[in-house]
Amino acid sequence: ESFEDMCLHTSIMKDIAFHEYTRPTSIQAQAMPVALSGRDLLGCAETGSGKTAAFAIPMIQHCLAQSPVRRGDGPLALVLAPTRELAQQIEKEVKAFSKSLESFKTAIVVGGTNIAEQRSELRAGVDIVVATPGRFTDHLQQGNSSLSRVMRRLPEKHQTLLFSATMPVEIEALAQEYLSSPVQVKV
Ligand code: AMP
Repeated sequence: ESFEDMCLHTSIMKDIAFHEYTRPTSIQAQAMPVALSGRDLLGCAETGSGKTAAFAIPMIQHCLAQSPVRRGDGPLALVLAPTRELAQQIEKEVKAFSKSLESFKTAIVVGGTNIAEQRSELRAGVDIVVATPGRFTDHLQQGNSSLSRVMRRLPEKHQTLLFSATMPVEIEALAQEYLSSPVQVKV
């Protein structure tokens, strides 16, 4: 399947072309149609396989189908990463594919950075938050953000995409607990 076949927003297509991604990688070809369909997904692919774009692009596409984020709203999508470095890499990619979208905002919320600046950024309203769990939990507790737009329709209607380079038993157990009939993609 090509990117053209995926019915992506024209701005996203423009950013894909700008980055000279001519065709989807294997994990993208398998995972993106599933993610775009709204199904839960358990993706296993190594670093360098293109798995970040495999979930970032469908996530942006889904955000565009929602009513715009206003001041005081929580984000439409949340990406949790285990380390600051990984969160930074993911944020870079999310920004790359939403660059042409006017007024689309992504915030990175990790420890070791200015919490007051993050507070005003979050309170102003952002479309996507890429975070490490500790710092984002602090902001939730302080009322600077909320999960109401990510989780409003839980438990019936929400989508979880879980990607990992490896699939140890702990991650499989996590997937069992939190994903609903996931499609499994492994490259
Ligand atoms: P990742 O597996 O997400 O860490 O991505 C690995 C690298 O592959 C990143 O530098 C991406 O910019 C690049 N990449 C991802 N998808 C594609 C694609 N379809 N075509 C060319 N490069 C890509």
